[in-house]
Amino acid sequence: MTTDRLAGFSHTPIARLVGVPAIPVLRRHTPGAPLLDGPALVGAVGAGTFAKQARALLGEAGIVEAGNDGKVAAVVLDAAGASTVDDLSTVQAFLTPAVRRLAPSGRLVVIGPLVGGDPEAAAVAQALEGIVRSAGKEVRAGATANLLVVEPDANIESALGFFLSGRSAYVSGQVVRVGASVSGAPPADPERPLTGRLAVVTGAARGIGAAIAATLARDGAGIVAVDVPAAGAALSEVANRAGGTALQLDITAPDAAERLLAHVRERHGRLDVMVHNAGITRDKLLANMDADRWNAVLAVNLRAQLAINEALLGSDVLGETGRIVCVASTSGIAGNRGQTNYAASKAGVIGMVRATAPRIADRGATINAVAPGFIETEMTAKMPLGTREAGRRINSLRQGGLPVDVAETVGWLGSSASGGVTGQVVRVCGQSLLGA
Ligand code: NAD
Repeated sequence: MTTDRLAGFSHTPIARLVGVPAIPVLRRHTPGAPLLDGPALVGAVGAGTFAKQARALLGEAGIVEAGNDGKVAAVVLDAAGASTVDDLSTVQAFLTPAVRRLAPSGRLVVIGPLVGGDPEAAAVAQALEGIVRSAGKEVRAGATANLLVVEPDANIESALGFFLSGRSAYVSGQVVRVGASVSGAPPADPERPLTGRLAVVTGAARGIGAAIAATLARDGAGIVAVDVPAAGAALSEVANRAGGTALQLDITAPDAAERLLAHVRERHGRLDVMVHNAGITRDKLLANMDADRWNAVLAVNLRAQLAINEALLGSDVLGETGRIVCVASTSGIAGNRGQTNYAASKAGVIGMVRATAPRIADRGATINAVAPGFIETEMTAKMPLGTREAGRRINSLRQGGLPVDVAETVGWLGSSASGGVTGQVVRVCGQSLLGA
C-alpha cells in the first residue's frame, strides 16, 4: 500500500501558504466511539414516520437534537411523504440552512419514497436522488450525503445507523433501498454487532479481504479465512489475528464449493455471512484480449461466486439470518479501459445479486454487492503514478479509500439487523465521478 503524500502535505503550513486545499481527514469508526460527534438536526416533509425512527435511534445512541443554531454533526430529512413539486420547495427550504451548519465529516441522510405512483410523485422521488447526489459534491471537509429509498413498512435503523456513523466514511452519493426486514433483529451489543455470527471471507490473505476478516472479527464474528494455497503463510496470519481458521482453497477448483461447505459444517455447523471477496485482474484492451485472460478473470470473479452460492442455497448450511455479500467494482458499473473481462465479471456479479435477492427472501437471507472505487491496496499501488493520482482525486472526498472502508460496509450488510436491505449495490468510492 502506498501513502497519499499529497494528503499529508496538504495539512502543512507551506501548503496553506501556497493555497493547496486541505484533503479532509475522514472520521472513521473506532470501537467505543459515539455514533456522531455532535447534535443532529432532524426534519420531515409529511407524516414523519421515519423521522420518528431516526429520533429513536439517535436517542438510544445518546445523540441530542440540535437547536436553532450552531454546527451539527448530521442532518436527517424524512422526505418519504414528498409527492409534489411544492414538497420539493419544502425540502430545499429545510436543507439550505441545514447544510450550512454541517460540521467536518458531517452526515446528510435523506429518506425518500420509492419511485412510482403518478408522474409527479415519481418525478419528486427521483428528484431527491438529484438533490442528494449534487449535495454530496457540494458538502466539504469529509462530509457525505446519501439517500435511503424506503418501502412504507421499512425499518431504517440499521441503514441509518451505518450512514450516520464513521463506518460509512468513504460512502457518499449512494441510493440504497430499504424494505421490510426478511429476518433478523438489532444486535444485543451494538459495539460488537456480529457477535455469534460465523463469516467466511474469500481472498482473505491480503488487501481488502484481510481487512474484512479483521473488521468482522473486531465486531464479534467468527472467521473462516479462505485463500489459495500459495498465500498460505499470509492467510494463517490473518486467520490467527482474527481468532478464526484458515482454509487453503482455490475457489475455481471443481470441488471448491463442496470443500468449503464441508469445512464450515464440520467446524461450525452453519454459516451466517458469506463474503465473496477474492478477485483478480488480467487487463488488456478488447482488441488484444485472449481467451486465457478472459477465462481466468471470469472463473475467479464470477463463476466461483455463482457455484458457491448455488451450493450454499441448495444446502442447509446458511443460517436463519444468512447474508451474502459480493465484492463487485465501480469498473462493473462505469466500465474501464483495458478491463472488458474484469468489468464483465463485476457487472455480472451485480446481475447475479439482483436475480438472487428475491429468490432467497423467503428463507430470511439477503444478498448485496459492495462496489469499491479507488482503494489503497497492493493492486492500486502497482498503477502508474499518473493513473493512481487521478484515481485518488476524482471523487468528492478527494482521496482513495482504505480497505477498512470496504470492510465496514460488508460488516453492515452482514449484520442480522440488515434484513431490510437486499439486492442492492453500495459503492464505496467517495462518490467517484466514474460510475456515478
Ligand atoms: P488483492 O489482489 O490484494 O487480493 C485478492 C486476494 O484474492 C488475494 O489474496 C488472492 O490470493 C485471492 N485470490 C485470487 N484468486 C483466488 C482463488 N482462485 N481462490 C482463492 N483466493 C483467490 O486484491 P484487493 O485489492 O484486496 O481486492 C479484493 C476485491 O476487491 C477483489 O474482488 C477486487 O476485484 C475488488 N476491488 C478492489 C479495488 C481496489 O481498488 N483495490 C477496487 C474495486 C474492486
